[in-house]
Amino acid sequence: MSMIPWWREPNRHDFNRIADHLDLEGEVSDSLAMQVRKLLELDRAQEQDITRLETIIKVLAGLLIETGVLSQQQVSQRVAAALAEQTRQEMQERTNPQLRCARCQETVARKDTYMTGLGAVCGSCYQALEA
Ligand SMILES: [Zn+2]
Repeated sequence: MSMIPWWREPNRHDFNRIADHLDLEGEVSDSLAMQVRKLLELDRAQEQDITRLETIIKVLAGLLIETGVLSQQQVSQRVAAALAEQTRQEMQERTNPQLRCARCQETVARKDTYMTGLGAVCGSCYQALEA
């Protein structure tokens, strides 16, 4: 059974390949080169974490299928649905970011919030605080 690494960012490997070919010693300061190297080390460590998580997910998904709890198709459909929902939320966050009001806890569009001593609050809480 071959599984696609569902959540991998498509450009991660491209980014690593480009970064490996950069000459960070020559044109940038030592301090900047060190910071970039630290970021690349962090990126590689996260890559290893993702690979480990992929392995764990493959084992768990394989167990679900082998034990007859779910079919391969059901696993694929649920993963596709979860990824579609995640994409929808990411798009919403990008186009219309949401915040939780610090006073009433309602979730509202960030553009409709006001910064106060309590934190970001919705319009009606802002009016209540102003009154
Ligand atoms: Zn509120």
